[in-house]
Amino acid sequence: MVSVDVPKRGVTPWEYRQEVAALLPALPVESLPLARCRGLVLAEDVVAGVSLPPFDNSAMDGYAVRSSDVAGAPLALPVADDIPAGRVDVRPLAPGTVQRIMTGAPMPAGADAVVQVELTDGGTDTVLIEAAVAARTHVRFVGEDVTAGTVVLRAGTVLHPPQLGLAAAVGIAALPVRRPPRVLILSTGSELVAAGEPLPPGHIYESNSVLLAAAVEEIGGEATVLRFVPDDVSEFRAAITEHAASADLLVTSGGVSAGAYEVVKDALTGHGVEFVRVAIQPGGPQGRGVFDGLPVVTFPGNPVSAALSFELFLRPALLSALGHTVVDRPRVRATATAAMTSPPNRVQYRRGRHDAGTVEVVPVGGPGSHLLAAFAASNCLIEIPDGVSEVRAGDEVDLILLD
Ligand code: AMP
Ligand code: MG
Repeated sequence: MVSVDVPKRGVTPWEYRQEVAALLPALPVESLPLARCRGLVLAEDVVAGVSLPPFDNSAMDGYAVRSSDVAGAPLALPVADDIPAGRVDVRPLAPGTVQRIMTGAPMPAGADAVVQVELTDGGTDTVLIEAAVAARTHVRFVGEDVTAGTVVLRAGTVLHPPQLGLAAAVGIAALPVRRPPRVLILSTGSELVAAGEPLPPGHIYESNSVLLAAAVEEIGGEATVLRFVPDDVSEFRAAITEHAASADLLVTSGGVSAGAYEVVKDALTGHGVEFVRVAIQPGGPQGRGVFDGLPVVTFPGNPVSAALSFELFLRPALLSALGHTVVDRPRVRATATAAMTSPPNRVQYRRGRHDAGTVEVVPVGGPGSHLLAAFAASNCLIEIPDGVSEVRAGDEVDLILLD
């Protein structure tokens, strides 16, 4: 790597990330049905009201026996009863008899083992038991997995499918979680047309709202995409005001750089939002603040800039507000397979491909912030630090792994 000594310019990405996080306090705790809890963070310890299993039951389809009765197998014994799963009036096992039992059915009192059906002739009046079994064989005992009254899930646990399954298994239908953030997404630009519409000359298809809404939802947020607005200050303000009360955050894209029609900057400067230049490429022009009581972050319009702004600044802030303690993507070091240049006074994020188990990263596309297809073909960001103007092929670089 070629390092150069240059004066720093703008706020650092790490400082800016803190400023965005400061806009978003911890989200309130709500009790949500399990089906809405996936990926959210448990806010309180959960105590099991029942044991798992709740009663001694059979782990196999077969015959409930006294192990001492079948010690001399092979032998035939009378089948005194039939116990399907869910039966509640199970009678005690009389000595010298067996009861046919299904997986999950309650063990009869007096039985201490199950002979699986494969080790019998499957008889229904009398059954030929082909092999002896030790006591406790194929019995699932009450409380083996969970004891009633104990904590089964700790506050701070991220609720993935196994944790949700466990909550249901102990009879809990709703869990206390930090509720999803409600994020408004507003793209600006008079040139924008929605996918699926005809594309008039001089226009482009709008993509930031789709990308940002998906990114918000991927971490458990609720995204509302507002109809994107032309570069018109009053239309922009009206679009926000209409929805502000029902949101936790507004994310805008476009209209924050140094051009003449910077609608977001024009509408929000002096109204609680401060615009800064972050020492990063792409994604330098940023704004954040509170407009009309609504926290706002404003991203630049180029698609890769908007995506990286979410990734580097907003994603950690939203995860933290949701109660996650791990808010960073994994990082690894790898060897660049090609040379890259970087503006020396900024942190540059190039896009790359890195295959797990290898030590290399292949840069994908150039530094341009409009190269969305290259971004979509990448799976990591290559972080080229402030003060480095050139990375040579074979140099080690830091990667942020995106998937
Ligand atoms: P701006 O930040 O508004 O100056 O936009 C920078 C570049 O990104 C311009 O080429 C815009 O056309 C493009 N752009 C802005 N917003 C979007 C969007 N929502 N979807 C796709 N491209 C956009
Ligand atoms: Mg624009």
